[in-house]
Amino acid sequence: MTVPQNVLNDPDCIFCKIVAGQIPCHKIYEDDTLVSFLDIGPLVPGHALVIPKSHYRNIFDIPPELFARISAQLPALACAVTTAVEAPACHILLNNGSQAMQSVLHLHYHIIPRKNGDRFFIPWRPGSLDTATALKLVSEIKNRLG
Ligand code: 5GP
Ligand code: ZN
Repeated sequence: MTVPQNVLNDPDCIFCKIVAGQIPCHKIYEDDTLVSFLDIGPLVPGHALVIPKSHYRNIFDIPPELFARISAQLPALACAVTTAVEAPACHILLNNGSQAMQSVLHLHYHIIPRKNGDRFFIPWRPGSLDTATALKLVSEIKNRLG
């Protein structure tokens, strides 16, 4: 794998070890800023990951310009991955922080192809939003956006 000199590396991070070539992976794409490879524990066939070569824990840490470059590759990567397994749909999933199910603390997108009748399931139980709560939340979020 080509590793530019300015890449940030955490020697204890499993994905940094993949970038450094210390751990093998089934690579599907690489450029100067990112690499994409098959997930070692696929939730469904074709499950792939997309990571920056530099070590950033999550979207709270990564420079927005780098995040944008990685995100810009997702349409092409997701299209190639899903069509390769003849799936009509996919999740683009980013677990951001350990409480949000991020187990490898090096930012990564999951591409998870979906087909009717596959065995993958996300429990999705919508709550309800009352007006007072919504108005308070919108105000607090807007204050933080400045
Ligand atoms: P997270 O839970 O952090 O969003 O997802 C981490 C993903 O990385 C998991 O789906 C897991 O299977 C995958 N993973 C962990 N270690 C390795 C590895 O050494 N190689 C590959 N290819 N995937 C890995
Ligand atoms: Zn890392």
